[in-house]
Amino acid sequence: MKQLFTLLLALSCLILPISALAEDDLMYDLGSRAAEVGMDLLKFQAGDDNILVLTNAGHALVKGKTTERALSGISDISGLQNGDNNLFQVNRPNWKPLWFYFFNKETGMATYMEPDSSFLLLNAENRASLPADKAFSQVSLIQVNLDKMLENPDESNTTFNKKKFSGNEFSLIGLSNVWAAGASYEFMNAAMFHDHLCPGVTSGYMIIKYVEDAMPIKNASETYVDIGCPNWCKEDAYQMIWDSTPGKSSMYVMALDPDDEAALQEKYGIRPAGIIVKWNSVSKTGKGLALGFDFDTLSEELGVANWTGPSWAPKLVQDIGMMDYVDKPESAIKTLKEFEVDDDLMTQLKTAGNNPYKVLGML
Ligand SMILES: [Zn+2]
Repeated sequence: MKQLFTLLLALSCLILPISALAEDDLMYDLGSRAAEVGMDLLKFQAGDDNILVLTNAGHALVKGKTTERALSGISDISGLQNGDNNLFQVNRPNWKPLWFYFFNKETGMATYMEPDSSFLLLNAENRASLPADKAFSQVSLIQVNLDKMLENPDESNTTFNKKKFSGNEFSLIGLSNVWAAGASYEFMNAAMFHDHLCPGVTSGYMIIKYVEDAMPIKNASETYVDIGCPNWCKEDAYQMIWDSTPGKSSMYVMALDPDDEAALQEKYGIRPAGIIVKWNSVSKTGKGLALGFDFDTLSEELGVANWTGPSWAPKLVQDIGMMDYVDKPESAIKTLKEFEVDDDLMTQLKTAGNNPYKVLGML
């Protein structure tokens, strides 16, 4: 009896991975088919440096299962991979549909596709009998180079109005253009986590560069703690690049009363942009900077302050234009107050109900 049980157990161990693999194959199949369609439409060979692939595979669930195997399918066929800075997973809620997107920076063309729900019901044999593009319910092929889009605003209006990328237009067009403009891997990572590119996440990247220069981390006991008041998209860059997260008590996010924000802007002549403390967890001491960020001057310099062109464009123009400023963050950032921090002040800065600017005597 015991031998029979052992035999059954051994058999079930053999069978389980096979059935698990069969489920996985659907995702691998989708990823590899997306790569085939992308290569065909954008006319590229495996590993082409001009190509970027973005997907929410690994975040999206399909039929209740995770979708990471699609990434292997994409890489095996297209040669594009995260380690080469040309495959990124864009953060999305797990309930949103799975999609694949390929972009050619040389031509500016991009293709977007979502799996066909009926394809997901087929077994491996039936799937194998279909051509690659039959896996997808919609395949869009569109010009997304920002300069070319601005030259043809009517066509580009249609891209946004008709939601040619199922509502992902702003996110995917911004990410493609900033990648083509040479954005660093860490910047791309921050934008992926934020789920789109915007002036806010770029301001966070600039604040990171500014703070790292003003008060660099010197030993392993130190970390950057963000008192995110007022919070905006910048907080997501800190999480991805500094690993400063709410869960690990290195980020405290709170809204700033509009009257207090206006009062600070009036007093310091710049929009308050939060407080960063370089904190030593062993000595329980730190140094802090209250910062300001000047979006107004940037918008004027980038020509989007009094925008009269298409409504989808100014944020994208600003996004790409701001890349020229990431190496000179002091052009938009100002230190409003510099201060020493002890355990008692740290507690006051992060405790609910306290306005950190009042704690610091700035209001
Ligand atoms: Zn944003």
